[in-house]
Amino acid sequence: MSIFRKEVLALSAYKVADATGLIKLDAMENPYSWPEDIKVNWLDTLKDCPLNRYPDPEGRQLTATIKRLNPIPPCPPSTKGGWEGLDVLLGNGSDEIIQLLLMAMPSTASVLAPDPGFVMYKQLSLCLGLSYHGIPLQPDSFELDLPAMLDAIEKYQPSVIFLAYPNNPTGNLFSNASITDIIKASKGLVVIDEAYAPFANASFINSLGQYPNLLVMRTVSKLGLAGLRLGYLAGPQNIIEQLHKIRLPYNINSLTQISVNFALSNHSLFDQQTQQICADRTVVFNQLNILNGITAYPSAANFILFKTPKNRGTEIFEAIKKQGVLIKNLSPQGGLLSDCLRVTLGKPEENTAFLNALTNSLRSSNSPNMLKT
Ligand SMILES: *Cc1c(COP(=O)(O)O)cnc(C)c1O
Repeated sequence: MSIFRKEVLALSAYKVADATGLIKLDAMENPYSWPEDIKVNWLDTLKDCPLNRYPDPEGRQLTATIKRLNPIPPCPPSTKGGWEGLDVLLGNGSDEIIQLLLMAMPSTASVLAPDPGFVMYKQLSLCLGLSYHGIPLQPDSFELDLPAMLDAIEKYQPSVIFLAYPNNPTGNLFSNASITDIIKASKGLVVIDEAYAPFANASFINSLGQYPNLLVMRTVSKLGLAGLRLGYLAGPQNIIEQLHKIRLPYNINSLTQISVNFALSNHSLFDQQTQQICADRTVVFNQLNILNGITAYPSAANFILFKTPKNRGTEIFEAIKKQGVLIKNLSPQGGLLSDCLRVTLGKPEENTAFLNALTNSLRSSNSPNMLKT
């Protein structure tokens, strides 16, 4: 085993739970598919795809669509405005973009992110032998601890800071002012990870071009195309250019390029679905908070984090699973996530099945009143 780097040997694999036969509310997927006529049109666009040829290495058509759908306003101090001076890099999911960014860093680089946060920042940093620093969020509000973040920037001089906006697994949007302070204080890159932008009604995309170190990363996964694996990074041309050098030449396959381009060009379809999911988020949030012993945290994403009674997180997770619903158990991560579970919003009937399963799990132990009075 000594042929492998010690960082690799020390890692454990990113485990994905088997959801066979279960209602799947664990991975922030969109539960809806497409109407039949849209499917027919989509298949039509695939029919003449030249599978014998390599894909367009630059994904030019898809990149153009992404730029068209994400207009950048003219912004001071640049007089150019729009996408001028900025560019887009496509990735095989935003996971690949995180990996590419980190691969481009010197081996002595530090990486900073709030904790709890998205696990791949740490996983990929450690895998590449970089120093990773998770800076605790404030308890209960899960807001950035700005003084702690600024101290850590001073102390570690991170090459990259990742800020998920909204944050996963907590679901909240960090303070805009704190993020801006972090961007200004950092000499390294600041990546605003907007995986949940479709549900958030908030974005830093309009701030692109105002800061030389600001990048915005997005993905189509949570929108409803997780199976296609397509993420993108927008930011200053001189940074994107470096990343193009180290990506594999054909990282986005032809079927993904065509399908995402088709789907984004028909985005009214997703607008309806995300509106429905956001409306159901309010319903489930309120229902969770009525349950005795449950605290649900406000979310701007397509999932809700909630806390169970003390020391019962894993037991309740298992009880919900036994009733046929798979959510995510975060309790084993400890710290601020002790006793916390995360549920992805599904179809209304799936959400109801989850709430019933949770209610039964709470009742099955010795708490007689499930409803708060
Ligand atoms: C899901 C998620 C990603 C990964 O998205 P892919 O494009 O599917 O790789 C990135 N960042 C955050 C915060 C996520 O929750």
